[in-house]
Amino acid sequence: DTTHGAILYLEDISVSFDGFKAINKLSLDISVGELRCIIGPNGAGKTTMMDVITGKTRPTSGTAWFGQTMNLATMTEAQIAHAGIGRKFQRPTVFEQHTVFDNLELAMKMDKRVAPTLFARLTSEQAGKIEAVLRLIRLNGHEARPAGLLSHGQKQWLEIGMLLMQEPQLILLDEPVAGMSDAETARTAELLNELRGKHSIMVVEHDMGFVTEIARQGIVTVLHEGSVLAQGRMDEVQADERVIEVYLGR
Ligand code: ADP
Repeated sequence: DTTHGAILYLEDISVSFDGFKAINKLSLDISVGELRCIIGPNGAGKTTMMDVITGKTRPTSGTAWFGQTMNLATMTEAQIAHAGIGRKFQRPTVFEQHTVFDNLELAMKMDKRVAPTLFARLTSEQAGKIEAVLRLIRLNGHEARPAGLLSHGQKQWLEIGMLLMQEPQLILLDEPVAGMSDAETARTAELLNELRGKHSIMVVEHDMGFVTEIARQGIVTVLHEGSVLAQGRMDEVQADERVIEVYLGR
């Protein structure tokens, strides 16, 4: 049973827009603690797949299971977010006027489970959690700076930190290194490699150098025309004739 231990299981998902199949019988499963990279040319259906997982788009057919028992196709966007799927969009959306520390604190307190404590003082456990995330996202020493003054890369890290504050069971990252410098991209790869095994993460990314850095021995899924074209280790999919054809556009 390939779904054993799966945090996410997409089964024969299709999404049509006016008869056009953006997703076409897509099946995919992500294991607990896995770091899965999703690649594929423009228009492959990567964004639409993320939209289905987060409830932004309803599948035309198929089922999407989260944590074995929750059928995402029957849940609203808010219910899915509350159930523990956190998504980071391409453009960072931090609270620019607030400090780095406050952004992390707000993210934690926006989580419905702790929202009643919005105006309460931080417990030492909560403060410790913020400190740990600050170190992880390479922003310790920057906690008192307004988020608006951070570099693009630092804002992206802060937003990953804000996601982590909510302790999602599945993290979806949409092109996390888009617009980053080479140094920032390398540090983001380090960051994700530190998260490996501790969180279930799906990363959609175009930057193949970055994907190679974070894929390690993990599975890379190549989407094309709304379904899985190839899947395996990065060296395997890179050598796959069908993948080469699709990327070279022949
Ligand atoms: P990717 O993220 O891999 O570039 P998308 O999921 O954005 O691919 O798009 C897959 C296909 O579906 C594309 O051909 C795109 O034009 C089409 N598409 C996506 N969203 C819509 C929509 N709301 N209406 C019509 N077509 C759409």
